Amino acid sequence: MSLTNKTIKMDILSDKKVKARKQYRCDLCGVEIKVGELYCNQVVVVNGNIHNFKRHLKCDEICDRLNYYCEDGISSNDFKMLICEEYSFATEGKDNNVSFKEKLNLVYHRVI
Ligand SMILES: [Zn+2]
Repeated sequence: MSLTNKTIKMDILSDKKVKARKQYRCDLCGVEIKVGELYCNQVVVVNGNIHNFKRHLKCDEICDRLNYYCEDGISSNDFKMLICEEYSFATEGKDNNVSFKEKLNLVYHRVI
């Protein structure tokens, strides 16, 4: 999808912490949100379409601490890239052979 010549119009309808009634997947890290877990649910309207943007409290906090927001939202790829960058910054490029989940945990404990 080409975004040139088009301005994305996004309105946030609501953004709140809710308890997961079923299993979801985090829109940032791609890892599951378990039943009963608190997560952030943001309801946005993008170009007239309603989207639910679900993410772990943890992932949301990371974005918050790193001031990682952009007007048209953060994609899962952007987030993964951010975590990998933060991780290699923290480890000075060593030890890159760990899972994304471990990287996420390390970054989380560094920024929070
Ligand atoms: Zn997440």
